[in-house]
Amino acid sequence: MVSVSEALELVHANVHTQETCEIPLIDALDLYLSKDIVSPIHMPPFHQSAMDGYAVLYDDEHQNKFILVDEIKAGDNNNKTLKAGEAVRIFTGAPTPNNANAVIMQENTTVTDGILVIEDTLTPNKNIRLAGEQIQQQQIALTQGSKLNPAAIGFLATLGITHVSVYKKPKITIVVTGNELTEPGTPLTFGKIYESNAIMLQTALAKKGFNNVKLLKVKDNYKETLHQLEQAITSSDFVLISGGISVGDYDFVGKALLALNTQQVFYKIKQKPGKPLFFGKNKNTTIFALPGNPASALTCFYIYIESALQKFIGNPNYQKQTKQVSLQNEYDKKGIRAEFLKAVVTGTGVEILNNQSSAMLNSFAKANALVYLEEGRGMISKHTLVTTYSID
Ligand code: AMP
Ligand code: MG
Repeated sequence: MVSVSEALELVHANVHTQETCEIPLIDALDLYLSKDIVSPIHMPPFHQSAMDGYAVLYDDEHQNKFILVDEIKAGDNNNKTLKAGEAVRIFTGAPTPNNANAVIMQENTTVTDGILVIEDTLTPNKNIRLAGEQIQQQQIALTQGSKLNPAAIGFLATLGITHVSVYKKPKITIVVTGNELTEPGTPLTFGKIYESNAIMLQTALAKKGFNNVKLLKVKDNYKETLHQLEQAITSSDFVLISGGISVGDYDFVGKALLALNTQQVFYKIKQKPGKPLFFGKNKNTTIFALPGNPASALTCFYIYIESALQKFIGNPNYQKQTKQVSLQNEYDKKGIRAEFLKAVVTGTGVEILNNQSSAMLNSFAKANALVYLEEGRGMISKHTLVTTYSID
């Protein structure tokens, strides 16, 4: 049995990014770059007007009257050179004449008979986006480890980049065990309950961008469990098993995992809920066997699995962040095990909810946070700062 902090350390010490792949930018959302990206071009690629107005070449003698000599609109292939005192009509995004030294917004100008008169101060390169001012060719655009959020993806597209090298998403299989489980949508016979962990874990994974998760279901039967776990392990980077990891006579997951030469890293954590969590490795496959009680399974997912998956995909900040929040209702913590409590964080603090049983999801459904109370704590009075994990 390990403590919560030991369990977290062991998980992080045993999960690593494994592979990288080159993928289209459109598929790269929320993944992490496995290499620095160098800009293939200057951005902007040419001196560009930031306004609709007039590009001018001014000097000491030419300050407010210019001769209009041309018009350049966005997209025009017109790399013009001006003489001092000349101006061109120009529009936002158009290439300014190569020696223009200001663009005057049209609101500050009048034009009569081809002569431009300006009512504005002139400063060097006013309203001109200089070539390469955002980034120069061969400069690093984004470094290895950068998260590809929509802005990063847009930025790379402005540089003409279509593919990126990222840390691969894991192949994940969920294995659900239990003779008592019935599919929602079919009638419930006596002694059975509806199976809910698969969809709960699938959607928790989907929320973090992990889709296409494989799902296997097995009865509480040693041979079947062994066979399905072997399938899952050989075809996945992560195997998440629900149920069958406790000490009952019909809990076969632990036995099957060991028979498949799984290396147990830890089994059982001094925490509530989620004590019977098993964590192990089978070659390169990471295995979490979660207690079947729904609230235990989800707690273990949020606390251990989420950060393990983030580490696998190369997130340098993979550890789940905590916040110290003022407790709004006193809580009498009884046992010595650490506790993760379903709670609601509001603008004023955090409230621990009723119905903390590991078999119940009704309070979890309303929670947006888990309050973490360390081992050995007792009565926690109102307004004490408590450690809180956001689960939103
Ligand atoms: P186990 O960890 O297999 O001993 O299961 C612990 C409790 O969780 C039992 O009451 C099970 O019926 C329940 N349980 C196990 N798996 C699921 C599941 N997939 N969906 C809903 N409840 C489950
Ligand atoms: Mg079971």
